[in-house]
Amino acid sequence: MRGRLIVLAGPTAVGKGTVAAWVREHHPEIWMSVSATTRPPRPGEIDGKHYHFVSNEEFDRLVATDGLLEWAVVHGVNRYGTPRAAVEAKLAEGESVLLEIDLQGARQVREHMPEAYLVFLAPPSWEELVKRLVGRGTETEAERERRLETAREELAAVSEFDTTIVNTEVDEAGRELVDLFRSHPTADPA
Ligand code: 5GP
Repeated sequence: MRGRLIVLAGPTAVGKGTVAAWVREHHPEIWMSVSATTRPPRPGEIDGKHYHFVSNEEFDRLVATDGLLEWAVVHGVNRYGTPRAAVEAKLAEGESVLLEIDLQGARQVREHMPEAYLVFLAPPSWEELVKRLVGRGTETEAERERRLETAREELAAVSEFDTTIVNTEVDEAGRELVDLFRSHPTADPA
C-alpha cells in the first residue's frame, strides 16, 4: 500500500509553518519533506533540516532534471520546491507524507498526483487574518495593503481544496490534520 500524501497550504500569515512545526514535534511518524530554496538561511536555520539551501544554478539544475515535484516563486523573490525522489520513496514505503507549501505549489501537486489530499488552512475570520498580517507592525502602509490584497485572492482558492481546517488553536488544528491521515481515503494508483 502506498503511503498517504497530504498537502497543507493556505493564505499568507495563516500559521501554516506553526501547525507544521506542531506536527513535526508531536508526530514524528509523519514524514515531512524538506524543501529546496534559493532563499538564504535565517539565523538558527540548518541546511538539510529546515531547508536545502541551494544556489540559483543548483535550483535551475533541479528544475531541468525534473527533480522537483512542484516549485514556485514565493513572495516575488525566492524559489522554493519539493524534491521529488524522497517523497516518491517514502510513499512507496507506505509512509505518511506531509508537504507544507504555498498555493501555487499545491495546485501543481494536484495536477501531477491526483491522489494527494489538499488541506486549506483558513484563519478563524478575515479580521483575525488582518490582525496576524499587520501584527508585526514592521510593514509600510503600502506593503500592508499589498499583502492584504494577496491574502484576499488566496482565500478565494479555498474551493480548490479537498477540505478546510480553521486555525484557531495550533494544537487543535494540528490534531485535525493528523486525523486526516487516518480517515481520508487515499486512492492507491498502483
Ligand atoms: P519561508 O521563507 O518563510 O520559510 O517560507 C515562505 C513560504 O514558502 C511559505 O508560505 C511556505 O509555505 C512556502 N514554501 C516552503 N517550501 C515550499 C516548497 O517546497 N514549495 C512551495 N511551492 N512553497 C514552499
